[in-house]
Amino acid sequence: MPETAVHVGSGKVRELYALGDERLLLVASDRISVFDVILPTEVPDKGRVLAGLSAFWFARTRELVPNHLVAVRDDGRSLECKRLQMLPVEIVVRGYLSGSGWKDYVRTGSVCGHALPAGLEESERLPEPIVTPATKAQSGHDENIDAAAAAARVGAERWAEAEAVALALYRFAAEHAEARGILLADTKFELGLDRDGVLVLGDEALTPDSSRFWPADSYRPGGPQPSYDKQYVRDYCESLGWDKTYPGPEVPADVVAGTRARYVEAFELLTELAFDEYVADPQVVLT
Ligand code: ATP
Ligand code: MG
Repeated sequence: MPETAVHVGSGKVRELYALGDERLLLVASDRISVFDVILPTEVPDKGRVLAGLSAFWFARTRELVPNHLVAVRDDGRSLECKRLQMLPVEIVVRGYLSGSGWKDYVRTGSVCGHALPAGLEESERLPEPIVTPATKAQSGHDENIDAAAAAARVGAERWAEAEAVALALYRFAAEHAEARGILLADTKFELGLDRDGVLVLGDEALTPDSSRFWPADSYRPGGPQPSYDKQYVRDYCESLGWDKTYPGPEVPADVVAGTRARYVEAFELLTELAFDEYVADPQVVLT
């Protein structure tokens, strides 16, 4: 008898269902959130891109750290996962100076306690990737914290382990992506503990929603970069003079199509699979 899935929560993008006590079903919708506001317009196939890319990376990073993936369902958007006790920090790794990292650097010369060389430009590659933790805000925006604050939340030893795992994942993925024409500017990981207290990679991983992916061939430090994520929709919404509060604006068909194309292109470049192949048989990302 198939297990009953009990709805236990809705994120901005994903629906969470419990499958018994030990597993979760994470269903990625086609919703898109911009400045933490869910837009009324969906982006077709976005959920499949997020689930498929996550599964692709989970299958390739098992030797670096165990992850929560149990199975990919044939709808291509639902991942059966081991239920974890999530750490109360988000672990961002940055290889380039962008977003809140750039803002903090301009203001203070450092990012989450990492003192950086003077005179760096926006989007510049960092001498070494850095781990910049953030609080997991229940509502509103996440807040950057330093390593000491992260260690205070999860314990010093656990934090050291989490940092090492996140850096290893970043290095692996950045190298994979760069060889395929994509720069992994930064990315956010969520780690948790399983029943045995083992540190496990959870959530989504290395997707356009959790990362900044930049096309390598147009990379020019000194300002913001074009990217494969929702920046395109973000730019459209900002051009309307929207105040970034609910309700968000409807997005016209051409902007939806352009956004879908960017998500799909990132998927295809990184996995070296045609997106249609994935839709026909989601298991292809696992091998
Ligand atoms: P957003 O990501 O848009 O900021 P959100 O984090 O609230 O919003 P989702 O990402 O859609 O929403 O929901 C996923 C939720 O499930 C997150 O709270 C995440 O920490 C949690 N989660 C992910 N994997 C696991 C797991 N294996 N066990 C328990 N909780 C998990
Ligand atoms: Mg999330």
